[in-house]
Amino acid sequence: MSAPARVRSRIRVTGIVQGVGFRPFVHGLAGELGVVGFVGNDEAGVIIEAEGDPAALEKFVDALRSRAPALAAVEEVSAVPIPVGGDTAFTIAASESHGPRSTLISADSATCDDCLRELHDPADRRYRYPFINCTNCGPRFTIVTDVPYDRPSTTMAGFALCAACTAEYHDPTDRRFHAQPVCCSQCGPTLRLIDTAGQPVGESGDPIRDAATWLSAGAVLAVKGLGGFHLAARADHEQAVAALRGRKHREDKPFAVLAPDLAAVHELCEVDEAELVELTSRRRPIVLLHRRPDARLAPQVAPGNRSLGVMLPYTPLHHLLVDAVGAPIVLTSGNISDEPIVYHDADAATRLQPIADGFLTHDRPIHIRADDSVLRVVGGRPMPLRRSRGYAPEPLPLAWPAPRQVLGCGAELKSTFCLAKGRHAFLSHHIGDLENYETLRSFTEGIEHFKRLFDIAPELVVHDLHPEYLSTKYALDLVDGDVEGVELLGVQHHHAHIASCLADNGEEGPVVGIACDGTGYGGDGTLWGGEVMVASLVDYRRMFHLEPVPLPGGESAIKEPWRMAASWLRVAYDGAPPDDLEIIARNGVRWTHVLRLLDSELDTPMTSSVGRLFDAVAALIGIRDAVNYEGQAAIELEQRVQLDEPAGYPARLEGELIRGGDLIRAVVEDVRAEVDPGTIAARFHNGVVDVLARAAQAACAETGLSTVALSGGVFQNVVLLQRVSAALSSAGLRVLTHSRVPPNDAGISLGQVAVAAARDRATH
Ligand code: ZN
Ligand code: ZN
Ligand code: FE
Repeated sequence: MSAPARVRSRIRVTGIVQGVGFRPFVHGLAGELGVVGFVGNDEAGVIIEAEGDPAALEKFVDALRSRAPALAAVEEVSAVPIPVGGDTAFTIAASESHGPRSTLISADSATCDDCLRELHDPADRRYRYPFINCTNCGPRFTIVTDVPYDRPSTTMAGFALCAACTAEYHDPTDRRFHAQPVCCSQCGPTLRLIDTAGQPVGESGDPIRDAATWLSAGAVLAVKGLGGFHLAARADHEQAVAALRGRKHREDKPFAVLAPDLAAVHELCEVDEAELVELTSRRRPIVLLHRRPDARLAPQVAPGNRSLGVMLPYTPLHHLLVDAVGAPIVLTSGNISDEPIVYHDADAATRLQPIADGFLTHDRPIHIRADDSVLRVVGGRPMPLRRSRGYAPEPLPLAWPAPRQVLGCGAELKSTFCLAKGRHAFLSHHIGDLENYETLRSFTEGIEHFKRLFDIAPELVVHDLHPEYLSTKYALDLVDGDVEGVELLGVQHHHAHIASCLADNGEEGPVVGIACDGTGYGGDGTLWGGEVMVASLVDYRRMFHLEPVPLPGGESAIKEPWRMAASWLRVAYDGAPPDDLEIIARNGVRWTHVLRLLDSELDTPMTSSVGRLFDAVAALIGIRDAVNYEGQAAIELEQRVQLDEPAGYPARLEGELIRGGDLIRAVVEDVRAEVDPGTIAARFHNGVVDVLARAAQAACAETGLSTVALSGGVFQNVVLLQRVSAALSSAGLRVLTHSRVPPNDAGISLGQVAVAAARDRATH
């Protein structure tokens, strides 16, 4: 019997397939299956010519997807038959780079198990080397300065490989073949512990051990990580954590904690299976977990909070440091209050000098700032609250290709931008609140960087309708600056929220959308934020909304929830609010002032925001009159909810209005009856859930739709999210929620892009 005929295929693989060890993987696979030919990189990804018997070739093509390396994200594998070539071996071809670029850059990835083993092996040449990495792990996005992704276009360019590292780099069978950040203690970055004057310090000569000694003695250290500087303190050290809080001017916002290992996480928090998956993923986000009452933590870590943000080490430096300390450490963004995280050494030396007692730093530059990502697990699925390090700049798939290249400028708080080309939406890392020069610069530089990395020249620029957002002004300036051929598109804030939820789920609608939010500019010039709408990616129609109330003093009403309580009381009691409540006594003369302001209608824009209704209730029941971080009152209200309280306050739907006044009067009655705040919080939540579900059902009945999408910052409230979802599901409706992008304003830029692409598709 003769051997089966040989066949040959030209195979194209796209996705995140460069800089992730794909070529050595293909090389190994070919050897295993007796396939000959070659593999190479080009502008579009990986190109392979493979030749062998038909069965082997079929297995080969299947394995390209099913057995791809850890950091690869294979999007497409396409094979076309070509004439056999008669090669005798399988080789790795040199890279080519000519045509238009369409390769992707992977996110930074946690240290892999192989590297960890070497890190702890005294016989290994990288034993205890804090910058160990390989093709399966290590820094990527934060060190890439340009394309194509090659060592000279990373911040490792200044480190010449030693002979041993060179050999690994060029050996196709080595785990470090073409790993661009590869290095060792002979040729790579060096770690230093320095004091606030920049002088080297430490007793042992090992900066890690010395840093651990400092931390255990109660010092606050600035630690240079992957995407910026953190501030670190021992999490069980009361004075250290209190000092950190004081010097950082951060009053209540919880700190995240880095735990040495899973055992330590279990001691701090309750963890379920789905949470474990997220905690240990190579993306290594901060996961908000239910904290144990007996957790050994300084009180100032997360004051008055039932949950705790926890992460596991994600760089060799963090592994070594937290192991040496032997206890969890607080790891919070290196900045003062709301400024962006510091990522340059010179900047750290000046800006963090007042906070840190010393600096654990190194000489590998950070090119792009990337904050830690944060998520919560809800109903077994991740709900991102901040999508940044470990995720960006991985593209999110658009359900259909965008006809033109698009830039979404996002909103203002928790700002991100999003660039799209074809089916790829490149949602940026977390930029921060676009309120100061530093964040604005980070925003504009970030856009330029992404444009270059992904070869995108936006023809369509999308902005929020809010005229005062710096992101809106940025978009308008682009066109004023006569950037050739750029078209502007304004997309309403809550339409963008629902569109972001649709894009998150790969759908186009139409659906009924519930957008529960802080405040966003409405289509009618008032501030919206409690919207039940019919929405597709292309368009939306408002169907129900919370009854609008004045926002007394505009912005200051957001920082001082008691003002919202005054406004809501006035609406709920038809202009004659009660005068015998504790909140009135507490606020004294300023209460009267605000009532007068409300009567005058000066500086009192109208808002239908659900977030502001939550604020009002939090103030009414005495939880909080003023906030010192965004959403604080609503977060604390949620934390108070008496989870097994079944009752809920009634609220009417009247025409297109959701009557919030009904809820407020019910709250007041219970406050007067001295019902405990946890029970009131629960009844209020249940009332909101019920009226939102009824509104959505009515919208579904009227339109014949049966899917409801939930978005907006208020849906970070898990009690609200789960109960609204449950109510809609039990009414037979399908519910869409977020699992890839945050429901808050960080998702707006993706929603904007999705709307623009869909409208473009509809008209082109
Ligand atoms: Zn590795
Ligand atoms: Zn080396
Ligand atoms: Fe919003």
